[in-house]
Amino acid sequence: MIDEQIAALAEEMIGLRRDFHRHPELGFSETRTAGIIARYLRQLGLEVRENIGSTGVTGLLKGEMPGKTLMLRADMDALPIQEHNEVAYRSVTPGVMHACGHDGHMAILLTVAKALSALRTNLAGQVKFVFQPAEENLGGARVMIDEGVLDEPRVDAAFGLHLISMLPVGYIGWHSGPIMASMDSFTLTIRGRGGHSAMPEGGVDAILISAQVITALQGLVTHEISPVSPVVINVGTIRGGNAANVIADTVVLEGTVRALDVTVQQSIPGRMERIIDGISRGMGGSYELSYVSGYPATINDAGMTGLVRLAGAEVVGEDHVFEVPPTMASEDMSFYLQKVPGSYFFVGAGNPEKGITQPHHNSLFDIDEQALVVGARMLCHLAGLYLNNP
Ligand SMILES: [Zn+2]
Ligand SMILES: [Zn+2]
Repeated sequence: MIDEQIAALAEEMIGLRRDFHRHPELGFSETRTAGIIARYLRQLGLEVRENIGSTGVTGLLKGEMPGKTLMLRADMDALPIQEHNEVAYRSVTPGVMHACGHDGHMAILLTVAKALSALRTNLAGQVKFVFQPAEENLGGARVMIDEGVLDEPRVDAAFGLHLISMLPVGYIGWHSGPIMASMDSFTLTIRGRGGHSAMPEGGVDAILISAQVITALQGLVTHEISPVSPVVINVGTIRGGNAANVIADTVVLEGTVRALDVTVQQSIPGRMERIIDGISRGMGGSYELSYVSGYPATINDAGMTGLVRLAGAEVVGEDHVFEVPPTMASEDMSFYLQKVPGSYFFVGAGNPEKGITQPHHNSLFDIDEQALVVGARMLCHLAGLYLNNP
């Protein structure tokens, strides 16, 4: 019954996605987007709250029977990328593009809200539809939590999905435990003492210190952390020195640290500092390390992931549901999953036969819109499995 409901709404869902795609907005600036969402949810008769975490919107659907509260989440933000697709729904905003699929996530969630609203007499408990700003690096989830998105009514569990162009349409990817990594960032300033390059004994070379530090940080990854607990330390920028014949007095490095294990993640800044301190001081220099914790690892609950597998078997068939390895990319769905049990899963959206193969965050990124139907059916089935089976 729910599947027919979604099939009947498919055309409207594709229209919603194309409208969002045509009018992308960056993190915490999703005002047009939020307006459309709030209006849509209100027309369905849901209890709507706006401006949570700046541009976030929630809609509450109350079933006719009492029960638990399930949160379903979509992210709303686009990316600072100039679109190069030649399609009718191409972005009209120069330099901004939905190049991660969040336009599809919103269209899916609005459609699920409509389909479940029509079936509210059969629904136990409540569904909180959460439209979250600023997933890309800015941590919109954290801001929404600070502003009470998990309260009133208290959320018992949460599901979220991501459309994935690397996975063919019609496939579902799940993983129990950590599915995506944490991501922290750091800025390291190394100071030496300038001098004439002909007389290196008179200076302290900040570039030479930096070279040792960068190499030693990779040793930290390979020799201090178990090889079966993945960690990535990446130095992404390095700036220092002004002239070929001058000993550089300052070098600034910026980088990121990713891990799947929380305990390991928490141990990294201390380990880095010990190594940086030893090398810098040992070579006669000094340093400043600024280390900022970003997104935690996204950790899926085993029971909730079991429901994703069940729903996947119902929607695409058991042989199209498979376990994906964790990725070292990160995702702010993690903040909700620190507070409530839930599962974050992948919905295939690529289609090599149609030439839809571009990676996310690429100016030619696109999705096979049939994936929207799969995503919407998945969330409806999950709501049924979670809420109507006490
Ligand atoms: Zn993205
Ligand atoms: Zn994304």
